[in-house]
Amino acid sequence: MSDLRVATVSTAAISHNVETLRALVAPVQVMAVVKANGYGHGAVESARAALAGGANWLGVADLNEAFALRAAGIDAPLLAWLHQPGAAFGEAVRAKIDLGVSSLAQLNEVAATSDTAYVHLKVDTGLHRNGAFLDEWHQFFEAAVAHELAGRIRVRGLWSHLANAGAEHDLEQIEQFSAAIAMAESVGLRPELRHLAASEGAIKHPAARFDLVRVGISSYGLAPSADVDVAALGLVPAMTLSAPVVSVKRVTAGSGVSYGYAYRCERDTTLALVPVGYADGIPRHASNRGPVSINGVLGRVAGRVAMDQIVVDMGDATVAIGDQAVLFGNPATAVPSADDWAEAADTINYEIVTRIGPRVTRRYE
Ligand code: PLP
Repeated sequence: MSDLRVATVSTAAISHNVETLRALVAPVQVMAVVKANGYGHGAVESARAALAGGANWLGVADLNEAFALRAAGIDAPLLAWLHQPGAAFGEAVRAKIDLGVSSLAQLNEVAATSDTAYVHLKVDTGLHRNGAFLDEWHQFFEAAVAHELAGRIRVRGLWSHLANAGAEHDLEQIEQFSAAIAMAESVGLRPELRHLAASEGAIKHPAARFDLVRVGISSYGLAPSADVDVAALGLVPAMTLSAPVVSVKRVTAGSGVSYGYAYRCERDTTLALVPVGYADGIPRHASNRGPVSINGVLGRVAGRVAMDQIVVDMGDATVAIGDQAVLFGNPATAVPSADDWAEAADTINYEIVTRIGPRVTRRYE
């Protein structure tokens, strides 16, 4: 069976990126974030590649993601941080999965598992998602000390997450986090891993690195925001999305294209049909805009992105059935980037790669 739609993932690029990030933040440790199927790149393969690049830890959102890594035989240090009440904490502890704990109630629930749970206490320093709120910190830390003394938990980490709301707010959060560390120490907690920064904070603010940084998007070679130049840091995009042209038509000026005729050809032109659509994660919002490279020539999506296919206006370029259309990859190889698609769809590169759907074959090289 041949593959119609392929996301080629360079595991060497992921290893290289993690190695590069490690060197940037050394001696601080690196947690490679492989949640959401490794940001669409494949969780197990990305995890292995990150570990080969020297990642000290792996991070995922939920326990099912963590169990899948353990089931694949990955026994590296692993943290999972987003849980519902009644989550499989006991099973997680037996699988040596560290638990991010975000409230007193969750701490008590985790402490009630039969084995000693390794926890990372999460404090809210301003993002206002999960994490113990400022007025709970003292009680949270005191309860952690009591559970630790009783042998029910070990506090391995204290952590928080940045809002990336600008340098001034980053600094406020760094200060808030330092205050949390001081308060934890005042009740006798000295966690070995204090961590705050994801890719953007890790790259921009040495003061945000503490003992460990949790890097997701940058380990896949993509920028956490427009003001971080990942190519200048030596990071390489790991994913290339491509599909073969399955139909070619020469149409006359004025022809309508795709549903609703949202596109009218301005001149006689060549249309290439490429079998990827919104079911594969191609944003419909990039209709009439998304860039596609065929034989090194840049075309644009003509008309609406459909469920399974897009039409690309290739002008007078020579295109044949079977030619490879590249939607995005490493811009250093003269193809569009995930950032170009993010711009075309008014979103972020995270969403572009993470949404690449299950019909797209991941090919590892
Ligand atoms: N840490 C936490 C808690 C996250 O939720 C995420 C991702 O959203 C990350 C780290 C990694 O972020 P980034 O991909 O920006 O490096």
